[in-house]
Amino acid sequence: MASMRCRRDPCGVICLILTYFSVFYADYVVIQYVLIPAYSDSVWCTLHGSVFNLILLLLLACHAKAVFSDPGMVPLPDTAIDFSDLRSQSSRMNERGCEGWTVCSRCETYRPPRAHHCRVCQRCIRRMDHHCPWINNCVGELNQKYFIQFLFYTGIASLYSMVLVVTAWVWRIRNEREGDAEKEGEEVPSKHLIVAHYIILLVESVLFGVFVMVIFYDQLVSIITDETPIEQMKNRLIKDRSSTSSSSSSSSTSRPPHQPSHTRKPKLALLREVFGRGSVLCWLLPLHSSPPSVGGITYSALPDYDV
Ligand SMILES: [Zn+2]
Ligand SMILES: [Zn+2]
Repeated sequence: MASMRCRRDPCGVICLILTYFSVFYADYVVIQYVLIPAYSDSVWCTLHGSVFNLILLLLLACHAKAVFSDPGMVPLPDTAIDFSDLRSQSSRMNERGCEGWTVCSRCETYRPPRAHHCRVCQRCIRRMDHHCPWINNCVGELNQKYFIQFLFYTGIASLYSMVLVVTAWVWRIRNEREGDAEKEGEEVPSKHLIVAHYIILLVESVLFGVFVMVIFYDQLVSIITDETPIEQMKNRLIKDRSSTSSSSSSSSTSRPPHQPSHTRKPKLALLREVFGRGSVLCWLLPLHSSPPSVGGITYSALPDYDV
């Protein structure tokens, strides 16, 4: 039910429509106004057309996987849990070896370390990164790989279409200079329409290209440092608070929500946790990889609910 509520988020639905429209528009302009006029007599038309469409196909496949995959929703308990004494509940959980588990008062459930509540999905998500309207879903432990692949292929498609448009535009200007001026006015479609499509696609490619590359970089940094943006923010807040309180009094003992144990983990191991244990080539494909354990704790270690 929560996933359906999330799917109905108006901002997410608009972003989804905009994503599909942008992809199909880019494909239309590249084929109709770039490849056919500029490369119609050569094998380059087929080659560029095939490669560009393959990139778009992978982009859409990764996007679909990111949209429809479970980001790692923490299951809700079948029966209501008594949270009247949270302190003793959490100490009992720690005794059972569930160190770091917390309670979500909105989901009314226990959640593993690094899980956070998403206000849009209205559920707790394991290793939640952020809620992304472009996939109308949360980016979490189980779909982060597909999200990053989507960013990667969007970046490649943007760069590729920019190169194709600029090349075709230069070819067109050179052709005009070389004596095709007498044909002016007869050209179908008109020169202005073609230039308008070139400009729109260039703007779209630059905007999306820069946008996805920035997020792609942030995602890689968050994997390598093993700290999601939520954890970064919380850790920074705690650090700021403790530095201000230590300057006035040294009584504060607040602990960061996720200690970066990661500093000891090699970067490749952290990347493998997200992209799977297959070869680096498999990292580029939207294939299912076995989900990692939750900080060494699996769901079989869920605490017994005291009703
Ligand atoms: Zn929750
Ligand atoms: Zn969400």
